[in-house]
Amino acid sequence: MNEIIVRYPPSPTGLFHIGTARTVLYNFLFAKNKQGKAIMRMEDTDKTRSEKQYEENILSGIQKLGMAWGVDWLSSTDEVVYQSERAGVYKKYLEKLLAEDKAYYCFSTPEELNILREKAQKEKKAFRYPETWRNADKTLVQEKLDAGEKSVIRYKLPKDISEITFTDAVRGEVTIKLTELDDFVIAKNLDTALYNFCVVIDDNDMKISHVIRGEDHISNTPKQILLFKEFGFNIPTFAHLPLILNADKSKLSKRKNKVSVDDYLSDGFLPEALVNFLALLGWNTSDEQEIFTMEELIEKFSLDRVHKGGAIFDIEKLKWINQEWIKKMDISEFYTRVLEYWNSEDVKNSEKYNFDISLFGDLNNEKNILFLREALALVKDRTKQLSEVFENLALFYTDDASLEYSTDIYFHKKMKTSRETAVESLEFAKNIIENLDDNFEFTAENLKNLFIEKIKEAEFKNGYILYPLRVALSGSEFSPGTLELLEIFGKERSIVRINRGIDLCK
Ligand code: GLU
Repeated sequence: MNEIIVRYPPSPTGLFHIGTARTVLYNFLFAKNKQGKAIMRMEDTDKTRSEKQYEENILSGIQKLGMAWGVDWLSSTDEVVYQSERAGVYKKYLEKLLAEDKAYYCFSTPEELNILREKAQKEKKAFRYPETWRNADKTLVQEKLDAGEKSVIRYKLPKDISEITFTDAVRGEVTIKLTELDDFVIAKNLDTALYNFCVVIDDNDMKISHVIRGEDHISNTPKQILLFKEFGFNIPTFAHLPLILNADKSKLSKRKNKVSVDDYLSDGFLPEALVNFLALLGWNTSDEQEIFTMEELIEKFSLDRVHKGGAIFDIEKLKWINQEWIKKMDISEFYTRVLEYWNSEDVKNSEKYNFDISLFGDLNNEKNILFLREALALVKDRTKQLSEVFENLALFYTDDASLEYSTDIYFHKKMKTSRETAVESLEFAKNIIENLDDNFEFTAENLKNLFIEKIKEAEFKNGYILYPLRVALSGSEFSPGTLELLEIFGKERSIVRINRGIDLCK
């Protein structure tokens, strides 16, 4: 079997976005699964729209998501290929087609063509270039070229083929009638070949075996196949991936959705979770598995399980996947990742977030590290996005004696508690804690046994005591468990917070 070689072909005309990331990922997974190679090809022929900053953003984004094209598995092909540096190569092929009368110069002006386009629109017909210059007199063409008149180069659609059929690895057999095409533009001039032309030359030169790309390119495929045939090149296997849609089934757009990968990362999504989520945007395994490591994805990925229908971008699912990834982490890993997140340039410089981590004290100090780790352990499993963590930790760092919150939150219908009943509950809890032996080990486990026993003795309900206690300790309706809070604050701080609660309720 021939070697598997795919390409990552982004155009650096915008930030690295979800759609490109999904395409790159599927190429990566496919190539890795088959022990193939991936070539990084920057499709920067559109000089007016291509920008260095976008190129850098795309390359770094691919690395951040762990889909690097280079290093160990790609040996000779780990450099970035720039189409803009290959103009000379395209020129030779353009000259060949022109010399063989397979392509021609067209002098129809954009204004002329617009009139025809509008006419077609009114008649509800598809616009086709009317071949005005297809068989023009050679001397006239040369005169116009010599005079420097503006032109483009069009490919002469063969008249002896009526349709193009190819087997798409996702969509099966696809047939396009040539009447649906026209003499398409392949270059602005000899030095500026356009997309449909460049990719064919490149895919051939780079021995690309599989072209895996978005469905929006399917209409380009017959044009490219015609050119592959024209030059006698091997035709790669095509696989067109389903469109990514908004929840309302419209095409994922920059306007309706944040689409840049960096935006998601600085919103606190983990690269692993994003990869996991992107993999499921148009593909799944036959079982129910939803959480995958990159290794698992590589092992399980296949083009025949890529869906044909559009893939809905569901942000709630991304949050769920992210939370699952966070749950899987141990506390050391979580600590490291949260700190990396707070210290990452994008987050630090973002106007949206205001994470002042001096709140946690000097993080070279062992005691501060230990306390932060304990606090993180209490919020970890509830965290959907790393961006929530800072706020959720605040409660551990506020001054115990002046904790501010509304006493309305002492009201809980099910626990039968309110601001009025809270005083009794808090006095009861304080009494237990104050009367502890000096050698009592102040752990959640020990406290749980003790509280359950004392509450039972006094014939209260657990929630009647533990809910107001949790409010007093955290100043919040939603927080980690009461006994975990007692443990992290320790005896003294707990008592100060309970007293504060009693004062506020009285
Ligand atoms: N440069 C194209 C894009 O960014 C990719 C074209 C292709 O895969 O053939 O959409």
